[in-house]
Amino acid sequence: METRRGPTGRMTIALRTLDDGAWISVNDSRQVSVSDVWTLSRGVFCDCEPAYILLEGFVDVGVDGSIVTADAVGQCLDCGTRDSIDRLPIGRIVGGEFEPYGPEGVQSLVEPER
Ligand SMILES: [Zn+2]
Repeated sequence: METRRGPTGRMTIALRTLDDGAWISVNDSRQVSVSDVWTLSRGVFCDCEPAYILLEGFVDVGVDGSIVTADAVGQCLDCGTRDSIDRLPIGRIVGGEFEPYGPEGVQSLVEPER
């Protein structure tokens, strides 16, 4: 049996950064703002535990399985370390829809490498 799916039935998600990295756009709608403070667990960014990182800009966005990750630049509010963050999990794809994690939900996802 042959099944045809229209544009609304497709599972592709359009991800990109907008406004010089101020936003992550999902399917042409602004979903994640750079101005939030994200909580990262120890060791991944600086020595603070946890580290409260004010993001300055998104550099890139991508998908790892069903997890949407962003490369960003941020600064620790405590120690002032300013660095890039690779593959920060910002949300996931569920049934073709984007579900943002939100800044509070990220800390358990970013763990130091074993
Ligand atoms: Zn710090």
